Amino acid sequence: MASSVVGRFAPSPSGRMHLGNVMSALLCWLSARSAGGRLVLRIEDIDPERSRDEYARFIIEDLRFLGLDWDEGEGAGGAHGPYRQSGRTLVYEEALRRLDAMGLLYPCFCSRAELHDVTRAPHASDGRLIYGGRCRNLNVQERAELSARRRPSLRLRVPDETIRFVDGLCGPQAQNLREECGDFIVRRSDGAFAYQLAVVVDDIAMGVTQVVRGRDLLDSTPRQLYLYRLLGARPPAYYHVPLLLAPDGRRLSKRERDLDLGALRARYGAEEILGRLAFLTGLRETAAPVEARALAETFSWSRVRRENLYLPEGLFES
Ligand code: GLU
Repeated sequence: MASSVVGRFAPSPSGRMHLGNVMSALLCWLSARSAGGRLVLRIEDIDPERSRDEYARFIIEDLRFLGLDWDEGEGAGGAHGPYRQSGRTLVYEEALRRLDAMGLLYPCFCSRAELHDVTRAPHASDGRLIYGGRCRNLNVQERAELSARRRPSLRLRVPDETIRFVDGLCGPQAQNLREECGDFIVRRSDGAFAYQLAVVVDDIAMGVTQVVRGRDLLDSTPRQLYLYRLLGARPPAYYHVPLLLAPDGRRLSKRERDLDLGALRARYGAEEILGRLAFLTGLRETAAPVEARALAETFSWSRVRRENLYLPEGLFES
């Protein structure tokens, strides 16, 4: 019987893939393939300022190089396209119309500086801003006056409700949307659709049942679950995978050039990279080279390390 698992790669083409992205992509692929499932590749070029076509090409080429294949999306066809977010404007507009019809959207005129002033941040230590609802209850006249001066973003009202879910790797999670997040932006003032909206609308449209991604997005999941509920769709299973940290504890980022795939491919073959990552994530006892397919045969989430991973000095020698 064919498996009903549908996973997805959802890279943002804002830079070359780095080791952390490769680790997420590997676990995403293994999770779907080991269950006999399918994979979709969606290019998340929703932010025109940060996305470059050249990076999309690199990402596709790098996934191929690693042997992480997909069944739908760029180069593979499929019935749920377009598979680039920049081509999906009509789908996002339709979702916004539905949310608006529920009376849940409102224009927000706050500038960045104002947001810093009026935003409550009970968990200020993590640097997160929580919108306090300044534009939540403006009347028609106030809106008209402000509209003449500034283009608004659109926010979605959130209830005073704790959203709970069980992450396949991180366990039980809970977040009160009002207290820990606040009404959030679904369309920016420059007209660009927000990541939170686009990712949910697309995962629904593409039939995704399993989301494997970096732990930096764990915090976004309750907002996304709320959107699933509003849009009347069943949410996927979530697995938020550890972040890869430099030996000194810094998060590895796209700026770490020596660990992006351009630099790594100059020194290592695909199996050498995958073998080292399999070792680091707990899937193998040694860092010996290995093919993705061989890893799929014995893959189990119970073997994947849950804590953030420090890249040992020397594992990828420059
Ligand atoms: N495009 C997002 C990123 O590259 C990932 C979105 C997701 O997996 O939900 O960070």
